[in-house]
Amino acid sequence: MHAPPIQRLITELSKLPGIGTRTAQRLAFHLLRISEQDAFALADAIREVKLRVSFCEVCFNLAEGPLCRICQDARRDPELICVVEEPVDVISIERTHEFTGRYHVLGGALSPIDGIDPEDLKIAELYARVTSAEHPVREVVIATNPTTTGEATALHLAAGIRELSPETNVTRLASGLPVGSDLEYADELTLGRAFAGRRAL
Ligand SMILES: [Zn+2]
Repeated sequence: MHAPPIQRLITELSKLPGIGTRTAQRLAFHLLRISEQDAFALADAIREVKLRVSFCEVCFNLAEGPLCRICQDARRDPELICVVEEPVDVISIERTHEFTGRYHVLGGALSPIDGIDPEDLKIAELYARVTSAEHPVREVVIATNPTTTGEATALHLAAGIRELSPETNVTRLASGLPVGSDLEYADELTLGRAFAGRRAL
């Protein structure tokens, strides 16, 4: 049995995705061995990110304030929206320099088996943007991951948008992306080409 502070650390670490009890235990003992300076640097980084970074009120990308940098940029086309699963996907797509519109971050993909239903994602918020009177959206590019859940999400959104706003074009990134893997692992050239060759959905 571990001393209570160590047990507490193991419990907290094992709440992280992909970290089982054994790994949590290994990490806890690693943290015990490193210098106070390194351990406190990690604790401070966690504290700072929680205090300073939140989600954009419009697109749910990461933001240091109510709006993210992209939503604040008046040069970005508000009538063109790219839908992604996670904030990390925004970074991948920005690196391609192919996209001049805005984003919408869903916060995951539909997966009924894992209990992730439409109301668990920012789908209603996307529909509200698409039908906004101020900036009628011309095109929604669906850039969810080329995985089973990403594809299911793309089809769900395409049907929903078609019903709410028939004049909005819905497109999907071209194939060429490695099937079954996440967008964040695609190289810039492949992702850039997939963007340029997007097709109607
Ligand atoms: Zn934003």
